[in-house]
Amino acid sequence: MLNTRTAVITGSTSGIGRGVALKLASLGTRVMINGFGDSEDIKALAAELAELSGQQALYNPADMSKPTEIKAMIEQAEAEFGGLDIVVNNAGIQFVSPVEDFPIDKWDQIIAINMNSNFHTIRAAIPGMKRRGWGRIVNIASAHSLVASPFKSAYVTAKHGVAGMSKSVALEVAQNGITVNCVSPGYVLTPLVAAQIPDTAKARGITQEEVKNDVMLAAQPTKKFVEIEHVAEMVAYLCSDAAQGMTGSNVSIDGGWTAQ
Ligand code: NAD
Repeated sequence: MLNTRTAVITGSTSGIGRGVALKLASLGTRVMINGFGDSEDIKALAAELAELSGQQALYNPADMSKPTEIKAMIEQAEAEFGGLDIVVNNAGIQFVSPVEDFPIDKWDQIIAINMNSNFHTIRAAIPGMKRRGWGRIVNIASAHSLVASPFKSAYVTAKHGVAGMSKSVALEVAQNGITVNCVSPGYVLTPLVAAQIPDTAKARGITQEEVKNDVMLAAQPTKKFVEIEHVAEMVAYLCSDAAQGMTGSNVSIDGGWTAQ
């Protein structure tokens, strides 16, 4: 059934979002990707997605910290696809710092991109989903939507916010054929995580190898990074008709991290 659906995946030029776009396209979904990056790479990804799905694949460059651009992106998807069935809120950034030194602009940016953007896409997409009586919203939260780590106050705040927002909206639209869920990965080795390694090493005064083994995977009992494809599989399931009874859930894929 996903081959009759249309989807916007925010932050899908890299990492988990890219993996989700590839998975949904492989199931025949018409996708709109979003995010920053080299324009030739983005063109190539859109072409790959169109090839995979056998359908049109669009790109919208909206900055997820800008509400007007987010609204225009959802409107473009609705207009060009003739309706928007699925929103995967995935765009996210990280910044690691002791709270007393946390740059105010970084705090504001993380709250805007990692949390407020979900509100803006949802707000814009729900009316159309209600009209059509079907919708899927999947928010990529994090193990940090359930537990905390030091030096990540903005990220942990935003992700806890996303988890709460998902539950609240799930209740509002429960009788409209629309589900709202979070997927909460542990550490996935994407560019976002790789970029954190030097900063965490600096903040903690340890080597980068120690950050990987003793800080990141210390929390993950499996001692393995979560794989992008496995997160994408769960998102695809939540977007399917079979998942219609799942709403307001926060699905952990964290190698046992939050079981401790
Ligand atoms: P990534 O850095 O590989 O990708 C982030 C994507 O977001 C990119 O496409 C980037 O261009 C886009 N983006 C960043 N700022 C944007 C903005 N202002 N507007 C539009 N797009 C923007 O990161 P990732 O690791 O794939 O993370 C994706 C999501 O998964 C994030 O929400 C992150 O918090 C979450 N997550 C990641 C991990 C992990 O270990 N990698 C774990 C749990 C949750």
